[in-house]
Amino acid sequence: MGRALIIGCGGVASVAIHKCCQNSEVFEEIMIASRTKSKCDALKEKLGNGRTKIQTARVNADDKDEVIALIKSFKPDLVMNIALPYQDLTIMDACLECKVNYMDTANYEPENIEEPEWKAAYEKRCKEKGFSAYFDYSYQWAYKKKFEEAGITALLGSGFDPGVTQVYCAYALKHEFDEIDTIDILDCNGGDHGYAFATNFNPEINLREVSAPGSYWENGRWVEVPAMSIKREYDFEGVGRKDMYLLHHEEIESLAKNIKGVKRIRFFMTFGQSYLDHMRCLEDVGMLSTVPINYEGKEIVPIQFLKALLPDPASLGPRTKGKTNIGCIFTGKKDGKEKKYYLYNICDHQECFREVGSQAVSYTTGVPAMVGAMMLLTGKWNKAGVYTAEEFNPDPYMEALNVWGLPWKESREPVLVE
Ligand code: NDP
Repeated sequence: MGRALIIGCGGVASVAIHKCCQNSEVFEEIMIASRTKSKCDALKEKLGNGRTKIQTARVNADDKDEVIALIKSFKPDLVMNIALPYQDLTIMDACLECKVNYMDTANYEPENIEEPEWKAAYEKRCKEKGFSAYFDYSYQWAYKKKFEEAGITALLGSGFDPGVTQVYCAYALKHEFDEIDTIDILDCNGGDHGYAFATNFNPEINLREVSAPGSYWENGRWVEVPAMSIKREYDFEGVGRKDMYLLHHEEIESLAKNIKGVKRIRFFMTFGQSYLDHMRCLEDVGMLSTVPINYEGKEIVPIQFLKALLPDPASLGPRTKGKTNIGCIFTGKKDGKEKKYYLYNICDHQECFREVGSQAVSYTTGVPAMVGAMMLLTGKWNKAGVYTAEEFNPDPYMEALNVWGLPWKESREPVLVE
């Protein structure tokens, strides 16, 4: 049915590529292109005997012209950006120029947060909007008109959270509620990899997100709180009782805009004490900084050096045992009555590893990346412009989640988060 150019070949992309190859009726041909071509070739070697035809290439996606040249030579129907959020804008620019659909798994943030022009815009936004994460949707939403005029679609953030969590919201609104009052997104990883400290996806992106102040949406405005200052305990099905902490998360911004009348949206993620202690210590000594320092005549970015020391997230697969449980708890009204509802997925690290050689954090992101791409390639999600997942019909996506490895469960009597 279609051709996809997949940019990036890390933990998440590897799962998405496995899933595209399982779904060869939709993904007839793919090109895997990344900074390190040997990783793309290794995956081609592993998966290349199936029905999906695979090509590989080297690309530096920070360079728009390189991406344009690749698109012109491969002629894809869709570009799947599963590299890093730093590349979102160059790849969107290239898609615009070549009039090809675009999707990604995380919204734009710049690599260098000290760049003066960006920093000035960031500081203005912090004051005006009231949250201080380095990422926000404004950069990509600014492409809306251009994508509409070009007649192409950009699907932003088709991972689990963002991604599936927004599809859950659209589904709840369509089938379960007349009005949604509150949304609590709960992301629980009950997996144990046996290391004192490791991150489950790209360490730089992960540590930036977790060390930032938390914030939530309430009564039409952002409320910002110090990092990790709001803690709750929750008993997760399949995992058990876990401490979870309120974080800022990108989908809150789009849900606040698209779920009309919603009064409060919060995001919680579970962390163990060892992870938090390590993170605090690394932050205190400056190891989470993205500002280059000069060490014995060589420029080093502390967080990138730390990344080189930490276990590669892709290597955690064989060691990680336990389950993830990610979902949304809603309160609101249906037919004039108060109602609560919980939609969630439970995923087993070891089962993921047996199927695709990756742990569940990469799996729960890589499957929705393939499903989002499938929605665009099959035309089930088809409108020109720049959109997040809750802006489309949730039903075909929800159906595909059940088929492709992330079946959802529901509860009408969930315990609410205080
Ligand atoms: P990895 O670091 O494992 O992989 C990133 C890949 O991108 C690597 O193959 C890397 O190449 C490649 N890359 C980096 N820079 C460039 C460049 N300039 N040009 C071409 N390729 C490049 O990251 P993950 O797989 O863990 O994460 C991928 C994305 O998924 C991230 O954006 C992350 O934020 C997002 N994510 C989303 C989640 C969600 O639920 N929505 C959850 C988890 C992650 P090389 O091998 O050379 O380093």
